Amino acid sequence: MTRFNVKKHKEYLYVISESITEVHPVYKNSPLNLFLILGSNMALLIDTGCGLYPLKPIVDDLIGDRKLLVFNTHAHWDHVLGNVEFGEVYIHENETKFISKPYDVSHVKESPCEIVKIYEKQNFLIPPAVVIKKLKDGDFFDLGEINVKVIHAPGHSPGSICLLTNKGELFTSDVAYYGEQFLPKRKFISGVLSSISKLIKLCEENPSLELYPSHANYPCDKSLLIDLYNGIKNVPNLWNTRREHDFFYAYEINDDKFKYYVNRL
Ligand SMILES: [Zn+2]
Repeated sequence: MTRFNVKKHKEYLYVISESITEVHPVYKNSPLNLFLILGSNMALLIDTGCGLYPLKPIVDDLIGDRKLLVFNTHAHWDHVLGNVEFGEVYIHENETKFISKPYDVSHVKESPCEIVKIYEKQNFLIPPAVVIKKLKDGDFFDLGEINVKVIHAPGHSPGSICLLTNKGELFTSDVAYYGEQFLPKRKFISGVLSSISKLIKLCEENPSLELYPSHANYPCDKSLLIDLYNGIKNVPNLWNTRREHDFFYAYEINDDKFKYYVNRL
């Protein structure tokens, strides 16, 4: 039983995607992309998805006898609910507390989708991984011929990370993708812009860098970051057009490229 779609994107890079719209139609940023990088000694799984179907057997098949590392790019539900299948999971130190206890997914209780029965069987509390390890900015992992550097890019969440490889890929997590944007409170929007600037700088240092977002289309290029930077910077100017969105407890603002949900909490 699987609802994952597995694609070999490069010799050393697999994309395992799943639909989050199938969990609740309010989530439009489908598919969710999990990435699996195969180094010569080790493999790295980036995020564990919605936890609805077995992921580990798929990953085990692809990695052969390599040791597996598992990272969460941040602690939002759609990126971490498969953690329980893996013994050990890394996440930025700002977010370890969110994934060290059972994860409450009661926000999708009222979903019209049958699939949430899988959560209901677990009382909408999904167990965590046994061991949680901390990541911080600048951490470096050698997978064998491919290495990965952790870039702390807070904004979308306080411990969001992006991952830069020596092969020219930048995994942008939920910091940058084409789709509906989930932003923190208005007063923290400048932090989101600093993180996006940091990524733009990386693209300027390496113009052939490919961007792999955790939602929707990939690969993207620097223009995604420029579009987002300009769009998010303009959000305060569109403040009078905001509407309240109850499900996300956010203010919804639209421009011609993106829809933004600015947290009201
Ligand atoms: Zn997400």
